[in-house]
Amino acid sequence: MGHNRVYNFSAGPAMLPEKVLERAASEMLNYGGTGCSVMEMSHRSKEYDAIIVSVEEKLRRVMGIPDDYSVLFLQGGATMQFSMTAMNLIGKTGCADYAVTGNFSKKAAEEAAKFGRVNIAASSRDKNFSYIPRQTELKPDPNASYFHFCMNNTVYGSKWDYIPETGAPLVCDMSSCILSEPVDVSRFGLIYAGAQKNMGPAGLTVVIVRNDLPFCPPEGTPVLLSYPEMIKSKSMYNTPPTYSIYILGLVLDWIEEIGGLSEMEKINRAKASILYEKLDQSKLFRTGIEKPYRSMMNVTFTTGDEELDKQFVDGAKKEGLISLKGHRAVGGMRASIYNAMPLEGVEKLVAYMDKFEAERQ
Ligand SMILES: *Cc1c(COP(=O)(O)O)cnc(C)c1O
Repeated sequence: MGHNRVYNFSAGPAMLPEKVLERAASEMLNYGGTGCSVMEMSHRSKEYDAIIVSVEEKLRRVMGIPDDYSVLFLQGGATMQFSMTAMNLIGKTGCADYAVTGNFSKKAAEEAAKFGRVNIAASSRDKNFSYIPRQTELKPDPNASYFHFCMNNTVYGSKWDYIPETGAPLVCDMSSCILSEPVDVSRFGLIYAGAQKNMGPAGLTVVIVRNDLPFCPPEGTPVLLSYPEMIKSKSMYNTPPTYSIYILGLVLDWIEEIGGLSEMEKINRAKASILYEKLDQSKLFRTGIEKPYRSMMNVTFTTGDEELDKQFVDGAKKEGLISLKGHRAVGGMRASIYNAMPLEGVEKLVAYMDKFEAERQ
């Protein structure tokens, strides 16, 4: 990498592809002959309209989003979707299913409980969120308006290895795995993701929602929290996060140049497997996540010794490998290796792990 850049293993905001940053830099002062930066453009201008329309087209093409789904560019982070999904969808039956498999799905369930009855249809809390419950273990409520789950557990480093089926529409938090591999969008009622992991800068939240879901925002719902209003206004009720949307467009160009999501998945698998291989053969480092459920994006590990973990994280920083400290709820280390983390970054990390381990034998 150029420009004295470091390999940033942060869980988010995370690295962006260098090519994307270079292109953004080259277009910073004068976008396409307009004489201004995308940041300075009216969101109602024809130049900006061309940008937002093309970003939606690219996202539809890259993810294979069917025509009967809307794409929304919202703000408020994935966290606002914890509320918005429940406000708009729980009402019909007053009840929704939640699978609690980590930090964010737990938060989503807690938030939804403000708007209706939450049925915890599955939980992996009994083993510290180290696994994903099986389809046969799910206990959905027959009246549930939807089934909410978080595909990739950013904090614990686990991932659903299958798409659950309960008969109710699936509502899925894909913040930390969207665009990392192909997904069959038609299996889902609603997908949401904060952009700052795999899509672009913070400030943008993408929602992909099937138009025929039975939306029922209660009377008095703020307009910005109503899916029907946001669908009707095409994310343009007020000023959308214009620059973050533009960067998402550049990220999608980069993914298409690579060859789309199936190629992206191959690269991501290669990166994750060299790291897990190291963890499996190491005498010093280990991961607590059971094999079938290991995340391709967030790899959690520890030496089991807090002091050694700290030495590891501090030493890594000196080698240009930053933000490896685990989430405060878990401790240890976490290497977030999203799309934009180059293979060389993971190789450097593994080489540093080898060195660290050899020095302590
Ligand atoms: C980061 C993250 C969130 C929270 O995102 P915000 O944009 O900070 O609200 C929620 N869910 C998952 C899976 C995440 O990775």
